Amino acid sequence: MFDVIVVGAGPAGSTAAKTLAERGRKVLLAERFKMPRYKSCSGQLIQRTLDLVERYYGEPVPRSTMCTPTENRGVILTDDRGNRFRFEQSGRNVWRSAFDKWLADKAAAAGAEVREETAAIACEEEGGAVAVTLKNRERVYVEQARYLIDGAGVTSTLKRKLTGKAPEHIIMYQTYNRGTIDLDPHFFYAWLQPDLSQYDAWFNVKDGQLVLGVSVRDNERIDEYFTRFLAYMQKKHGLRIERELKQDRWLLHRARPGCAIDPGMGRVLFAGETAGFLNPMGEGVSSALESGHQAAMAILGCFDDPQRALSAYETGIKPLQDYMKRQWHLVSGMSEAFREMKR
Ligand SMILES: Cc1cc2nc3c(=O)[nH]c(=O)nc-3n(C[C@H](O)[C@H](O)[C@H](O)COP(=O)(O)OP(=O)(O)OC[C@H]3O[C@@H](n4cnc5c(N)ncnc54)[C@H](O)[C@@H]3O)c2cc1C
Repeated sequence: MFDVIVVGAGPAGSTAAKTLAERGRKVLLAERFKMPRYKSCSGQLIQRTLDLVERYYGEPVPRSTMCTPTENRGVILTDDRGNRFRFEQSGRNVWRSAFDKWLADKAAAAGAEVREETAAIACEEEGGAVAVTLKNRERVYVEQARYLIDGAGVTSTLKRKLTGKAPEHIIMYQTYNRGTIDLDPHFFYAWLQPDLSQYDAWFNVKDGQLVLGVSVRDNERIDEYFTRFLAYMQKKHGLRIERELKQDRWLLHRARPGCAIDPGMGRVLFAGETAGFLNPMGEGVSSALESGHQAAMAILGCFDDPQRALSAYETGIKPLQDYMKRQWHLVSGMSEAFREMKR
């Protein structure tokens, strides 16, 4: 019997597992892939994220997880009328594969048992515990815990099964390229013009690779938007692609007015993107770190009372939800596509 089973070794899951294990709880962290695993992400860690890492992990983000340019100097947004806004702040540029592996290793060093290539495929509450069905290459088996923290990200199997609902998604499509462009690689750029994407189109640089992406609602319209975005970048910023290295496609849930957060149910707490955290200004990782930490602290504070633990968690993440609403409000003033997100 574990005290807590945590699903998913992303920033939410690893932070929850580390917080619990270093305070003496018996924790299992189950991750579906072998670490380091690929995670589609721009990997821009803003100052808020760096501060949270120092607070929860007791040391700064290590250079070994970073790519060049290591310093991110902020975000440059172009609104749907073509006006440019600069949001400058100092951050870091990481590969999520290396960063997330570092977080998971810290959870293991704190005493969490980390099982890689182990997917959580079902869970059920019974007799004051949660039975979690896990699957690895060899077998399907069940582990018991007093609590489950689900940090499996946007496509969480357990959340879908527990709530019976599939969230509405948008598709993020991006390519990594060798080439040249006349933009400063220290910034992350986003464009909100409706002819370039159905949400946003973006550009950033990782170890000399030019990353270009568009987000869309309709899978079959990726090519159309992406082609238009490339043409725009060629014309406006002198983009020249010599060779495409990689393509990737990922899902994000669609933010809705009010930014509803789902804290979980019974002995199951949702953290990170599983709970619905989705910020428009590069705070995905910080929301995951913070909600993972809050979930762990709520369980630690009310271990024998799941109802109180859940409501302590809800209270703990309220400021994070309010922050998310403010960020969406800011972006809603910049693009028709986000107008419904006005507070
Ligand atoms: C294209 C793109 C660019 C982004 N850029 C940025 C950025 O620059 N900065 C930023 O802060 N945020 C960014 N984000 C958002 C950020 O990536 C997420 O918000 C963040 O990763 C959420 O963390 P998480 O821990 O909730 O989930 P995840 O990071 O998704 O981690 C979930 C983990 O759970 C595992 N898992 C899934 N299902 C199971 C299962 N059934 N059993 C066991 N394990 C499972 C997964 O393999 C994964 O390791 C970006 C997202 C995308 C798609």
